[in-house]
Amino acid sequence: MAEQEITIGLAVRRLGDEVSGWLDPVPFTFEGRMLCEDPLMVMLVDAVGGTRNGCKGFLRLDSRSPAFLDALDLLESLRLFAVENTDSGKDVPDRLRAMASRQWGCDDAVLVAGLAVRLAGLSKAARDLLELNPPTVHLEYDCPRCSVGWVRRRRGDEFVRVRSLSVSESGASCANCSASWSFGELPWLARTLGCEPVGV
Ligand SMILES: [Zn+2]
Repeated sequence: MAEQEITIGLAVRRLGDEVSGWLDPVPFTFEGRMLCEDPLMVMLVDAVGGTRNGCKGFLRLDSRSPAFLDALDLLESLRLFAVENTDSGKDVPDRLRAMASRQWGCDDAVLVAGLAVRLAGLSKAARDLLELNPPTVHLEYDCPRCSVGWVRRRRGDEFVRVRSLSVSESGASCANCSASWSFGELPWLARTLGCEPVGV
C-alpha cells in the first residue's frame, strides 16, 4: 500500500513537472539580470505566428517551411492529448492544469505515469523543433526497452527513417517508446547496449 502511494506520488509529480514545462515561464540569469524564457507552449504558438506575449525574442517559422507544419502538428497533438484526457476546460492550458491538479487514486499510477511520458515526448519534439535542446547524436543500436531501431519522422511532405535511440549532453531517449535515461544512467545504458563506456 505504502509502495503504491509512493508510485502515484512520483507519477503525479512527474506529470506536474511536464505540465509546468509546457505552461510556466523559466527564469534564468543573463549578465546578472533575471530574465525569463517563455513557456514552451507560448514559443510553439509564437513560432507558427500566433499572438506573442513573452519576454524573449523568438524566431518565427516560415509558413512554407517543413518545420512550420511540424509545429502545427505538435500543437494539434497537444490539443488532442488535453481533450482526450480531461472532461472539461476552456482551453489547452486550463485542461493541462486540471489534469495535473486532479485528485488521482493509488490505482491511477500507471495511467498518470503514461500521461507524463506522452507529454514528455511531445515536449521533446517541440524543443527539438525549436532547437532548444542540445544537439543530439543518433545511436546505431535498437532501444533496450522496446527493441525498435528505427522510427518514421515527417520532414515536410515526406517521411524519413531515423534511428530511434539518440543521446545528448542531458541524456538519452527513444523516439519510439519515449523511454529516457539521465546523464548519470548513460554508462548503464552503454553496457546494456553491449559497448563499454569510455573513461568510466
Ligand atoms: Zn524504445
